[in-house]
Amino acid sequence: GRVVLDTPHTRALARYPGEMAKVCAIFGGSRGIGKAVAQLLAQKGYRLAIIARNLEVAQTTANHLGAGHLALSCDVAKEQDVQNTFEEMERNLGSINCLVNAAGINRDGLLLRTKTEDMLSQIHTNLLGTMLTCKAAVRSMIQQQGGAIVNIGSIVGLKGNSGQSVYSASKAGLVGFSRSLAKEVARKKIRVNMVAPGFVHTDMTAHLKEEQMTKTIPLGRFGDPHEVAQAVVFLLESPYVTGHILVVDGGLQLLA
Ligand code: NDP
Repeated sequence: GRVVLDTPHTRALARYPGEMAKVCAIFGGSRGIGKAVAQLLAQKGYRLAIIARNLEVAQTTANHLGAGHLALSCDVAKEQDVQNTFEEMERNLGSINCLVNAAGINRDGLLLRTKTEDMLSQIHTNLLGTMLTCKAAVRSMIQQQGGAIVNIGSIVGLKGNSGQSVYSASKAGLVGFSRSLAKEVARKKIRVNMVAPGFVHTDMTAHLKEEQMTKTIPLGRFGDPHEVAQAVVFLLESPYVTGHILVVDGGLQLLA
């Protein structure tokens, strides 16, 4: 006969079906923080879509995770790309009930030296891109009666940083967006949270001199992508947390 598990955990899952999120789209999942999230979720048995502009790199990352994961090429700043990506995921993995937005770029520099084109590319990738993926994901999560979203912001979006005004604006925009969306979709059992990292060892920070900067970080070092991934997974799997910003910055915000 059929074994019916009746535990507090299975009863909670039955009541909150969206919390069974196990199919996750990771934009920016090919490298850095997104890749670390992918590794942790793969270990936990999630089926993943690894999404980035460079398909070759995304495919290599997906292959290393084991069987059953999908790699897709998409520029999050392009609506048609995002639409195609969600259709492709639906066909190959089924409905997505979990979304991580880790795709992001920076074009650091003083405002007076920043070209309009570089302002737009940061806003389009970091802010508009997340809006587009969230819109597509929410549509599908409403049908599934639940889901979880984590957007990657930045401590710079909360505190500001000289030489990063436009990048900071794009990340601060994500704060208002994530908190508003959290309110908008809570009744649909969809949760929206944000992780705001400090300095993390990835390609994005490879040019920075860690030695000179660690004085300003209470924990005295840059973070590892896996240390950020832990926080992302915590928020994905915390059924009663929404609209939260989890700062993972080695204490940077204490001094900033
Ligand atoms: P990386 O540069 O290491 O990785 C960025 C990822 O995003 C890659 O997978 C890249 O793939 C993808 N990506 C970039 N642009 C696009 C695009 N237009 N469409 C789709 N995918 C894109 O960056 P990090 O891992 O360091 O950063 C991840 C997120 O964390 C970013 O949002 C960043 O702003 C944020 N962050 C990072 C911090 C750090 O210290 N590293 C600190 C605070 C926040 P591809 O190039 O192939 O498209």
